Amino acid sequence: MSKESMWGEIRAEISVCVKCSLSRSRTRVVPGEGNLFSNVMLLGEAPGRNEDEEGRPFVGAAGRLLDKLIEGAGFKREDLFITNVVKCRPPNNREPKLDELVTCSYFTDRIIAIVDPRTIVALGNYAGYYLFELKGGTKWAGVTKTRGRVYRLPILGAQRAVIPTYHPAAALYNPQLYEAIRADFELLKTVASVGKGLEGLLKFTKSRGGVS
Ligand code: URA
Repeated sequence: MSKESMWGEIRAEISVCVKCSLSRSRTRVVPGEGNLFSNVMLLGEAPGRNEDEEGRPFVGAAGRLLDKLIEGAGFKREDLFITNVVKCRPPNNREPKLDELVTCSYFTDRIIAIVDPRTIVALGNYAGYYLFELKGGTKWAGVTKTRGRVYRLPILGAQRAVIPTYHPAAALYNPQLYEAIRADFELLKTVASVGKGLEGLLKFTKSRGGVS
């Protein structure tokens, strides 16, 4: 089956998903969007109000900041794949609950398997927790301690480069955090340009499953 067909099936399933209570308050599901053949995936937290209305990820204020970061690092948004660990808006923009993240990983796992990106940027603590702790088999120590480096983690059957950074919403009114994310996107640029030579860039360590 082609990537497009598999993606079509997942989108259809997500659109009628009632696996958790977020299905009762959502307006639209936000499965994600972008290039199914991209080597780079950006993984966020959960849709906010604008995303819930449009059915697209990162279209509000945090999204505009993300667009700036993407372009600043020399990428085009449509060349990447963007999704969230939770596909429906939590009411009143509350943080997602762990069981919602775990339930939605049924879809997150399949989306990663289809796109099969070599590099994943974890935008914030929820994406970091999913990638490190739920999939990568290594402890998630939080964005502040982990950001600024590239990690090699075994995620869904492949070694992938993971770049943790702050969630763009956290940087909206904080220039220091913005600068940190900007530096992490520069790192993404380097990692993506190295391509298959990634092994040379990543050093494997036993304690963390790989740090640069
Ligand atoms: N924040 C997220 O984590 N994801 C979105 O899609 C929008 C805001």
